[in-house]
Amino acid sequence: MEKKITILPGDGIGPEVVASAVEVLQAIETRFGHKFELDYALIGGAAIDAENNPLPEETIAKCEASDAVLLGAVGGPKWDNNPSHLRPEKGLLQIRKHFDLFANLRPVAAIPSLLDASPLKREVAENVDLLIVRELTGGLYFGEPRVLTDEHAVDTLAYTRKEIERIVDTAFNLARVRRGKLCSVDKANVLDSSKLWRQIVEEKKAQYPDVEVEHNLVDSVAMKLITNPAHYDVVVTENMFGDILSDEASVITGSLGTLPSASMRSDNFGLYEPVHGSAPDIAGQEKANPAATILSAAMLLKYSFGLNEEAAEIERAVNAVFEKGLFTGDLAKTGSRVLSTSEWTKEVLAEISTPV
Ligand code: ATP
Ligand code: MG
Repeated sequence: MEKKITILPGDGIGPEVVASAVEVLQAIETRFGHKFELDYALIGGAAIDAENNPLPEETIAKCEASDAVLLGAVGGPKWDNNPSHLRPEKGLLQIRKHFDLFANLRPVAAIPSLLDASPLKREVAENVDLLIVRELTGGLYFGEPRVLTDEHAVDTLAYTRKEIERIVDTAFNLARVRRGKLCSVDKANVLDSSKLWRQIVEEKKAQYPDVEVEHNLVDSVAMKLITNPAHYDVVVTENMFGDILSDEASVITGSLGTLPSASMRSDNFGLYEPVHGSAPDIAGQEKANPAATILSAAMLLKYSFGLNEEAAEIERAVNAVFEKGLFTGDLAKTGSRVLSTSEWTKEVLAEISTPV
């Protein structure tokens, strides 16, 4: 298979973790006989420094010419008090908007060798394997009108039928290639936007007879993600509920350094990035855990290119390295050996080039 990937290293630890993921993609190319053409471009603070623009035209053009995008992270204290008011994070919001990336996918799966890092009891966390599908371009964060005075403030939670249908279809399609369970999260006992959401999920059910559907209220899901997270397979919800629930779910497995994400539209084009940020406190020190970005590259292969076997091989390799007790500083137990970003990456590469 021949595909084009735009690589956006970004800021902080972004370039370090992206370099690891690129090496892994190259190992997959070699082993499975694919050709991934990689094109690098600027975003965030790096783009502000070079072009005075967090999302330069050239970056958009390169992404448009590619089949998928792999991003590190953007932002850092260097740009927090930027006199030009240019914000690195703006580049990320603009790219999501420009490419209409309405579906944010965040898988949370327990890694057996890391269960000690979870704040939940081992028996609660150990069978977790869920995927949160969050609507990313509508709802309360974008609705009009918006008003803010000292006496009065308004935000608007608005959704069109089309916006709900496309995210719900995405979630159904993901559920049918996983364990066939979909939990739709809303607040239909109070909110009209949730009533329409629930109605559309009910209408869609007939098209996906192989998927078992349940409706849950967001407050109840917030509890159950802690008491019984293994209950869930695919969880679909609107923008703000998804924002909150995906952060809540991210602590279940105990480490930010292992969580990947995807932001997609309907045609398989997607932007893949780790859930964590640019971690300026450890940037440039070879301390970053590259697992989240490596697993984001696996999502890229799976969701944008349909390369399921290759994606599974990356996941297997990452888990195998953890199983050997090899960790970067964020996960290493006190007294045990700490691997640098590139040492840890080499272990993953070795797994991929010498398969079991
Ligand atoms: P942002 O605003 O970009 O999300 P943040 O400060 O909120 O940044 P992160 O940058 O994700 O959040 O970092 C939070 C903490 O987790 C930091 O102390 C950072 O060092 C640590 N951290 C984040 N990602 C990693 C990683 N891949 N490996 C090791 N530590 C990490
Ligand atoms: Mg943050």
